[in-house]
Amino acid sequence: MTNKPRTNLFSVFTLILISSSSLAAEQPNNPTNKVLGSNQTFAITHVNVISMEKDKETINNATVVIQDKKILNINGEIPANAEIIDGKNKWLIPGLIDMHVHTNASINFKGNQPTQGATFFMDTQYVMTTYVANGVTTVFELDGRVAHFAQRNEIASGQVIGPRMALAPVINGGDQSNGGRIVNTASDARQAVRSLKAEGYNFVKVYSHLNVESFEAVIDEASKQGLKVVGHIPDAFKGKTAQAFVPHFGLVAHAEEYSKQIRNRNMTAQDAEYFAEITKNNGTWVTPNLLALVSIANQARSLDSIRTMDTLKYVHPILQDKWLTSNQYHKNASPENIAYFERLIDFHKALVKAFKKAGVPMLVGTDAGTSGILTGFSLHDELALLVEAGMTNEETLMAATRLPAEWLGIEDTVGTVSVGKYADLILLNANPLDDISNTRAIDGVFVNGTWLDKDQIDAMLLKLAKWNESMKDHYKWSNRKNYN
Ligand SMILES: [Zn+2]
Repeated sequence: MTNKPRTNLFSVFTLILISSSSLAAEQPNNPTNKVLGSNQTFAITHVNVISMEKDKETINNATVVIQDKKILNINGEIPANAEIIDGKNKWLIPGLIDMHVHTNASINFKGNQPTQGATFFMDTQYVMTTYVANGVTTVFELDGRVAHFAQRNEIASGQVIGPRMALAPVINGGDQSNGGRIVNTASDARQAVRSLKAEGYNFVKVYSHLNVESFEAVIDEASKQGLKVVGHIPDAFKGKTAQAFVPHFGLVAHAEEYSKQIRNRNMTAQDAEYFAEITKNNGTWVTPNLLALVSIANQARSLDSIRTMDTLKYVHPILQDKWLTSNQYHKNASPENIAYFERLIDFHKALVKAFKKAGVPMLVGTDAGTSGILTGFSLHDELALLVEAGMTNEETLMAATRLPAEWLGIEDTVGTVSVGKYADLILLNANPLDDISNTRAIDGVFVNGTWLDKDQIDAMLLKLAKWNESMKDHYKWSNRKNYN
């Protein structure tokens, strides 16, 4: 198993000089040719509303009115100027939240020069298209950096249709090559947290190489500064995992964080129950991220798992090339580690069962953007895996809507279909409570009050696929330092 940060490589930690020039006087990049952020009014009629509010039944045959980006009423008056969307035999659910992503952004591949920003540019609309096409309207970026602030501004200004973005930058330990902001003492750890707060972050990600005192200091200082903590269980806690569960360690980013603690020995149901107990006792939540290991195992077995993805066409050509020509999971594969990955997948499913039994809140996160895991599409894959692991359809939907909104502290504005909240919504052609795969049956999506119907979504995806195809010969991973 790699012990390096599992990033999308556009987030190579050593390349810190990142910026986006795309705010510079570009034409609004709007694939729908609509005026974004307009105060359009909509009424979805005869729709079955799965609000995801606590203990609330589906409201059948309802009318939902959207005005000024927000839900104005449910079964109230329809304003005269409203555009009618026929919701007959359709279901309305909240927009989905992916709690573990690595979003590509423009980057400097060449090194630090006083006036040089990025050397490799990514079109922000293309980066965001697969999220919105899949109804992913909020993401939690777990390698937050300056380039993501720029993307977030492009979305907020209406130049780009994209999800809301919460950002957690990485604090790590050991030497610089480990990636992230490196701290090896408690006082450096506290200073790093204060710096992140000053830079405008609301969250911190703790990483694998932190020593015990630095880990504890990050979490304590983050709590004092009002930042929430997500992340890994550092390797330093092997043999004493319970000690990592200190107050304010808010969210574990992968089920794999637990299995890494007991690597090189059998993983049993008792282990899963023990981990669930220490997690529950500390009030920590978990993003199981089952898809990550399933995808890694598939790539280790064969690169055909990448080649045959029907969604590969939506991946930037330089990344398609990287996933196929510089794939570490495949390069390091052996029958032994493939067998190990398979045992891990089983253990992670056992963990989900144990967390459920113990009452540990679980959130949906996918490691989207890393090799083989496609932003937006991945969320639906993870929902299916969580159901396979023993969660109900409703529990998985909750784990991708109301609960992550609560963890992020944005539950007053998104996460349920409720009057007064922003219109982040998905209109589905089938009921996801009957079959979780119905979350893929998307008829249209509201992103912050902007309506994208199926035709518009398909047009956005087609445009992206065409551009990627046309640039295939131009962008090669091995040539990344030579662009611009
Ligand atoms: Zn990740």
